[in-house]
Amino acid sequence: MSLTPEIQMQFLFALRSKGVTDQQVLGAMEAVDRGQFVRGLFADRAYEDMPLPISCGQTISQPSVVGLMTQALQVSARDTVLEVGTGSGYQAAILARLARRVYTIDRHARLVREARDVFEAQSIANLTSLVGDGSFGLPEQAPFDRIIVTAAAEDPPGPLLAQLKVGGIMVVPVGQSDHVQSLIRVHKTADGLEYDELREVRFVPLLEGLGKDT
Ligand code: SAM
Repeated sequence: MSLTPEIQMQFLFALRSKGVTDQQVLGAMEAVDRGQFVRGLFADRAYEDMPLPISCGQTISQPSVVGLMTQALQVSARDTVLEVGTGSGYQAAILARLARRVYTIDRHARLVREARDVFEAQSIANLTSLVGDGSFGLPEQAPFDRIIVTAAAEDPPGPLLAQLKVGGIMVVPVGQSDHVQSLIRVHKTADGLEYDELREVRFVPLLEGLGKDT
């Protein structure tokens, strides 16, 4: 399905009606065509506000949840961002429009390959995608101004908290995968960590310590 002005208007209306109000986030989501990140059978549903299946039994998140998480992350043009859970690459492409540099990591090599094809086709130059277990973060590029985890962890992973700068923000869904989870925002201050609970969400699990997959 191609993205007509009418479909784009409905897509943005759905985002606003679910609470995505930050103009920069809306601008980034207007510029990144979700249809490029959804393949096969579900491509026709790319502009609906719902999660959809992608390769490797994973999902591309619901656009309004992508918008709300991006908004909560408060990304500025000076920031270096780590995303754990590349999936389709959609969230990473949006972050790349807002940040100075984005690193995104997924344990499935196939997902990273497919996402990279889209990043290359769109000539996104400030985005690096890697295969690996993101629950350990990316120590060689740390510390990060912002970290976003797009899979549900039992607790905010310690290595990621350690790789967040003082003054930095991490957004992470927390809870068991077969239950409703809480979206948590962590601010790292000079005095320690401050936690806000933002809303209920449902994400596939963050698989910790299992290494990479094909
Ligand atoms: N952000 C994605 C997007 O825009 O399409 C959606 C991410 S999907 C809901 C969650 C992703 O987290 C899956 O692709 C899964 O392979 C990945 N994942 C789960 N555990 C991981 C881990 N330990 N390290 C890296 N990626 C992981």
